[in-house]
Amino acid sequence: PVEIAAGVASETVPSPAALPTSTPPTSPVPAPTPTPQNGNLISNFLTSNPYFAAGFGLMGIGVGLAAARQVLVRGSNLLYRQLLVDLEIPSKDKSYAWFLDWMARESVALSSVSESAKGIKGRFLALRNLYASSHHLSVQTTYKQHDNGSVSANFSLVPGPGKHILRYRGAYIQVNRERSARLMDLTSGTPFETITLTTLYRDRDVFRTLLQEANAMAMKKQEGKTVMYVSWGPEWRPFGQPRRKRSLQSVILDQGVSERICEDVKDFLHSGKWYADRGIPYRRGYLLYGPPGSGKSSFIQALAGDLDYNICILNLSEQNLTDDRLNHLMNHIPERSILLLEDIDAAFNKREQADESGYKLSGVTFSGLLNALDGVASSEERLIFMTTNHPDKLDPALIRPGRVDVRELIDNASEYQIRKMFLRFYEGADGVCEKFVKKVVELGVPVSTAQLQGLFVYNKNAPEKALEMVPYLRSP
Ligand code: ADP
Repeated sequence: PVEIAAGVASETVPSPAALPTSTPPTSPVPAPTPTPQNGNLISNFLTSNPYFAAGFGLMGIGVGLAAARQVLVRGSNLLYRQLLVDLEIPSKDKSYAWFLDWMARESVALSSVSESAKGIKGRFLALRNLYASSHHLSVQTTYKQHDNGSVSANFSLVPGPGKHILRYRGAYIQVNRERSARLMDLTSGTPFETITLTTLYRDRDVFRTLLQEANAMAMKKQEGKTVMYVSWGPEWRPFGQPRRKRSLQSVILDQGVSERICEDVKDFLHSGKWYADRGIPYRRGYLLYGPPGSGKSSFIQALAGDLDYNICILNLSEQNLTDDRLNHLMNHIPERSILLLEDIDAAFNKREQADESGYKLSGVTFSGLLNALDGVASSEERLIFMTTNHPDKLDPALIRPGRVDVRELIDNASEYQIRKMFLRFYEGADGVCEKFVKKVVELGVPVSTAQLQGLFVYNKNAPEKALEMVPYLRSP
């Protein structure tokens, strides 16, 4: 701008001849510096030229607006930071599902309250209030298992992706459910989502209350139930609906077996300090072995229910299970869970056969399993149960103490079990019971508890008929 000004000045400077005579002729040509006259000329030019004047004016307005915008943006950011609080819940977090459930339930609760009060109209109004700003809803289907085993579906409408406003305990909360366009959860094929809750700074405590309520609601849903987790890619996912707890009394093992295992487990769970003081990894392995249908899995399920634990089932013969994934899964077991490795021999039998034929069926190697078992070193207790029908096929390295601390044979039905099971199905039928036990023993073939259960279920409420049908137990 300086150069331009100088240029403009020199062009507009009049020639020395045109200068007034009072100027000494000997004086050199004045430097082209803007004189007051020159300044006037420039300002005259600028003001008299409508394009320049308008341009400068517009520029001034532009600069002013830009500055005002900056102030506004900064001001609103500051105000936002001062007045509002955000809470971000990514879909990877457990509270994400709880929050969605809570929202779904909230809508139902709200609508049913008003339904009783004002009928269908009230329900509609309540829903309209809740989703005042929501025109985009998603459906969330939940199943309810009734006591008779039947299942009914329940549909709840939850806000879909987008912005929604809801009112909770007097506080207005903006719910922004966003889906990531680029990030996908490869294991489930669903996009990653984030829910951002925003409320006034003074109402920030509602977040804690809300999450606690959502968590309590989720826990209540699981109360009296056992959640079965299965591996899903690198993580554990609940498999189906939580199952009703199975009572320990309903699984009839041979005399003293159930009590022995339960006592051992409970003693272990109370010995955290003992392990920590001695620097021993806080874990205990149990191997239940015996013929199929003897109640191994049922017992573990009942034990989990008794302890109020969940079960993580891992199938070692799964084809895409690798050593790394196995290690990761075993080190990231949900809290209060029993790890169950079912039919532990199967994975390695297949592997041997596979190696011979040149195929590799399972991705897990034997040393990978040993490493994963040894590496499970967490401060939390680890209960590992393994089951097998063929203990003779297990490598001694797998069942050495430290990996398997307790071994228990869960065999075909003993006399004790036959009697106890019969009386559990036909209460009070003591006379028929003794005949039944005698007849089964005389058969001279091993009978599994699962076979007995089948016979009793077939002859529900008819002990005599069950007695008659004993010979059928001969065929498996
Ligand atoms: P396993 O794991 O030993 O193969 P399961 O636990 O899967 O056997 O039992 C199969 C079925 O037989 C289940 O429905 C279970 O209720 C019944 N069953 C087997 N053994 C027993 C038992 N000892 N007491 C009660 N039910 C049993």
